[in-house]
Amino acid sequence: MLHRLGHDVTVYEKSVHGLRARGAGLVAQDEVFTALDAAGVSPSAVPGVTSVERITLDLRGAIRYRERAEQTQLSWDRLYDGLRGAIPDSRYVLDSPVTGVRAGADIISFFAGNERHEADLLVGADGAHSHVRRFVAPEGGEPAYVGYAIWRGLIPEDLVPAGAADTLFRRMTFHTGPGEHALGYLVPGPEGQTEPGSRRYNWVWYRSMSSGDLSTLMTAAGRSSTSTSLAPGQTPADVATHLIAAAQHRLPPQFAEVVAMEPRPFLQGVLDYVAPRITRDRAVLLGDAATVVRPHTAMGAAKAAGDALTLARALHSSTIDDALVAYGEQRLPVARSIAEYGVRLGEQLPL
Ligand SMILES: Cc1cc2nc3c(=O)[nH]c(=O)nc-3n(C[C@H](O)[C@H](O)[C@H](O)COP(=O)(O)OP(=O)(O)OC[C@H]3O[C@@H](n4cnc5c(N)ncnc54)[C@H](O)[C@@H]3O)c2cc1C
Repeated sequence: MLHRLGHDVTVYEKSVHGLRARGAGLVAQDEVFTALDAAGVSPSAVPGVTSVERITLDLRGAIRYRERAEQTQLSWDRLYDGLRGAIPDSRYVLDSPVTGVRAGADIISFFAGNERHEADLLVGADGAHSHVRRFVAPEGGEPAYVGYAIWRGLIPEDLVPAGAADTLFRRMTFHTGPGEHALGYLVPGPEGQTEPGSRRYNWVWYRSMSSGDLSTLMTAAGRSSTSTSLAPGQTPADVATHLIAAAQHRLPPQFAEVVAMEPRPFLQGVLDYVAPRITRDRAVLLGDAATVVRPHTAMGAAKAAGDALTLARALHSSTIDDALVAYGEQRLPVARSIAEYGVRLGEQLPL
């Protein structure tokens, strides 16, 4: 958005190869489309699949509850590709973690790509484990693991057995049991295909997991014991096998079948975090860096989009300092309220 408004913008990205094909499904909210439009990304670049009904399955796979509800689901990789295409290659610098943030007079300095840079404004859109946050809100600590994690998978729809497809497709499907909560829906194919036969099925399985078990899993996967996520391919083979076996008796048969079809399940620990402040000097926090909201809200991407829209609009219509005051005043209450809503939803689950 800021690039499009004529600002001189460079994105420094920590990842070495980019992030395509690392996410799964997202429930679309209006703010995401408003933000895409403001960034000059055509809605056709980020297609969605619409489900027409919400159903709840019991452990035997029978439908126990149904309601008509239209909802569109996007794929994380197409959203990433759409936004990535809005900024020239020369302005998107991979393998450049931002560190060492320092304030100057009306200027901010930081390291990225082994060089020190200066800018009028540093936007810390660097996710749940934000480094920029250590400068903006050092008193706020780190996100807290809440005691449950999400296993996820994304499989080509033609791998879903016909009986399961009959129940699951065109619907947002849920199951809740002791210590478990699962849901699933269709998303577009890897190139954005929305025709039947070429889409993907996204399943999401929340499971209770103590912080000790999470850190043991991280160590077994070769990650640091304080990590809270595993990307596709990082889950140890014996853990993936155990997950498939557990699904056979912990989930309805339709979900057990889709779990069994995913060779590379990936994991996100669920975290809570609200920054005590989101601006300091010429640095600002946005999206998950500012607040990590629980996934039940389906609002993580929408909140990030709303933050970005508010910041870009404020910077367009006032000085940087006034824009940062307005941004903090508008977005911190929104972040708090979505975070609290997520905690309430989580407390209603038997996890
Ligand atoms: C790989 C990935 C997959 C995801 N998949 C899903 C999904 O399938 N469904 C869903 O609902 N949500 C998913 N999310 C979360 C969702 O995208 C976010 O909640 C939401 O979009 C908020 O986005 P954000 O930009 O604030 O943070 P993020 O999406 O976490 O992006 C933060 C970015 O900052 C980079 N970064 C981190 N530290 C630094 C640093 N020091 N310097 C420079 N760059 C840094 C990261 O590599 C990343 O590109 C995913 C996030 C990621 C990163």
